[in-house]
Amino acid sequence: MVQGVGFRPFVYRLAIGYGLKGFVRNTHTGVLIEVQGPGQLLESFCSSIRHGTPPLARIEAIEESALDCCEEADFHIGDSTAGDAVETLIAPDIALCSDCRRELLDPADRRFRYPFINCTNCGPRYTIVESLPYDRPSTSMRSFTMCPECEREYHDPLDRRFHAQPNGCPVCGPALLLLDAAGLPMMAADVEPSTCATESPKPLAGDAVTEAVVMLEEGHILALKGLGGFHLAVDASNERAVKRLRERKGREAKPFAVMMRDIVQVRSWCDVSEGELAALTSPEAPIVLLNKRPGSMLAPSVAPGYDRIGVMLPYTPLHTLLFESGADVLVMTSANFSEEPIVNDNDEALSRLTGIADAFLLHNRPIYLKCDDSVTIHLSGELRHSRRSRGYVPAPITLRKGGATVLGTGGELKNTVTLLKGTHALMSQHIGDMKNFEAYRHFEQVVAHLQHLFQATPELVVHDLHPGYLTTQWALRQNIPLLGVQHHHAHLVACLAENREEGPAIGLILDGTGYGTDGTIWGGELLIGDAAGVERFASLESMPLPGGDAAVIHPWRLALGYLHRSCVDMADLPFMKGRGIAQVLELLEKKVNIVETSSCGRLFDAVAALCNLRGEISYEGEAAMALMHAAGGVVGEKEFRSALREEKGRWIMHVSPMIQDIATALQQGMPVTEISQRFHRTLISCFLEIIGKAANAAGIKTVVLSGGVFQNELLFVTLLHELQQAGYRVLTHARIPPNDGGLSLGQAIIGRRMLS
Ligand code: ZN
Ligand code: ZN
Ligand code: FE
Repeated sequence: MVQGVGFRPFVYRLAIGYGLKGFVRNTHTGVLIEVQGPGQLLESFCSSIRHGTPPLARIEAIEESALDCCEEADFHIGDSTAGDAVETLIAPDIALCSDCRRELLDPADRRFRYPFINCTNCGPRYTIVESLPYDRPSTSMRSFTMCPECEREYHDPLDRRFHAQPNGCPVCGPALLLLDAAGLPMMAADVEPSTCATESPKPLAGDAVTEAVVMLEEGHILALKGLGGFHLAVDASNERAVKRLRERKGREAKPFAVMMRDIVQVRSWCDVSEGELAALTSPEAPIVLLNKRPGSMLAPSVAPGYDRIGVMLPYTPLHTLLFESGADVLVMTSANFSEEPIVNDNDEALSRLTGIADAFLLHNRPIYLKCDDSVTIHLSGELRHSRRSRGYVPAPITLRKGGATVLGTGGELKNTVTLLKGTHALMSQHIGDMKNFEAYRHFEQVVAHLQHLFQATPELVVHDLHPGYLTTQWALRQNIPLLGVQHHHAHLVACLAENREEGPAIGLILDGTGYGTDGTIWGGELLIGDAAGVERFASLESMPLPGGDAAVIHPWRLALGYLHRSCVDMADLPFMKGRGIAQVLELLEKKVNIVETSSCGRLFDAVAALCNLRGEISYEGEAAMALMHAAGGVVGEKEFRSALREEKGRWIMHVSPMIQDIATALQQGMPVTEISQRFHRTLISCFLEIIGKAANAAGIKTVVLSGGVFQNELLFVTLLHELQQAGYRVLTHARIPPNDGGLSLGQAIIGRRMLS
């Protein structure tokens, strides 16, 4: 990755430094450098290229060949040659670099405390690009005319702002604005953008940032316009403030992410490994789920009931200024009109966040495309995404080989789309849950934008088999050939593709909900195959969802359904207290409004409810997380009963014996910790056994682990370890999420396979 990352200026500066002649130019495959001069200097030049590359550049290979000397007057940056179809790669939005940070905090610098400082190595990219070519007039910076000083930097190949499209300064660039809850300016215009170049930059005296920090310290909720959208910020050590944010946002329990001042603070509040440290301080600056240290000062309501907390470091100059001005640790949560497609309209933000925010810290650089923070966790030696978004998108995932241009539209929850072009899989940012019109519009915008940015028109559109998904309905309306792909088949292939493998493999897909080829809901599947097709070798025992999808947010109903199917006599269990048990039992008895599912996610929810951990949930995965948490990070040694039986050509992993055992254990007063440990042990043993049968039957030793349930770190880490111990080659997700955020990649690959 050497385009759009300041690589040519880097080479230029290097060549000038060594006094060499020649040129550097972009080609369709990368960069071509022709250089001449004394042999020793050439060697130093080449080694410097390898060792001093710009932070965002990635070099896969360097090929060298000797040429005869020729007339060269100087070293220059050449245009791309005609006929060389240059593949324009737009870089992701990148965290403030150390050079810019130094200038930001240097009183002598002309950008001292300027909240929009950036350079070739950092700043907004993807979220400000409207069209190609990636040049200032195609970005949301076009309304800002550079002052002569910025203009000079922009055109000087020796300057670190050479061709930095969002370049600007207090004189000519974007400015901040602090508004009160009613949307009225709280202070005189701080930085009046001026075109008068002779005027020295205005000091940001008593500036909006300082004022905003005072409000945060007083416990107020601040709406903050960031790189890819709005955050709601509040002092994370102020329990009352955090609670108020939860109330106003209508977000009961889902953990908030926090932004911490620096790595010293992170270390004092969380355990941080080397890998986690590297992720936190990387140019992508994702949220990393870290283990809290005991006695943390964080308000209990930030992430109630969890050992881990999502932490990120300041990644924009504005964030840095907030912390330099006294902010300590902040809750930073996506402002919740989050499915809105275009958030460059400050007025819209004001109207939607009225009643939530006490003040608005805005700016006048429009955000063209919304992009949420990425969320990662470091497990089994790798950084793994549960949401791949800001900082990573739209960097391509490189595939093993090329093929047709295909679009995968994803599923419903945590949706992304993927456009395959050549050997690049261009996966979109997190679009969100496709459940309303706003999300649908955002989806349409992202699809159109990806096709436009990468100049690719799909030959085939691939969608989920679920007829009710908005993504399916969108696909059906396109005038392009279509393919419907089974949900868990797509999960399996997504994992193969991420690992640049073609299979066939044994895919253990543990998931919440996916439409099966038989019209029931699948989600605990052992599939064998590859992009060309899969066999459903085994699945979890089918269980009833009383009331269908509505049961998902009422896990106690699931628990009742599982007990009923497992033929447990309905002796009183604590979780039943105060619930409308009789009505649900009637549904189950009469088999009215019952949906059958082999979902593993629902099994976790049901057992969590049985143990009286969560009878109702306010967000997906809440009950399952509580159950994992109850195990205290330990997989037990003792097991409950389970059974594997072949029925009608498919293996069924029977969980009803385990449900019976759990009901008995609860009646006998077994602690929930032990129940959860045994539950995890039982499942893992069962999966190991069925994988063994599949490996023998198919003669395959490669295992794929995919599906949202693998965000359960206890299950994932233990199963991965035990499979590896048993000699399997295990493919897992890292760069793309195991949940439905990765689905679109698998769909697109399956579609491409069908066309080949
Ligand atoms: Zn920079
Ligand atoms: Zn300027
Ligand atoms: Fe799924």
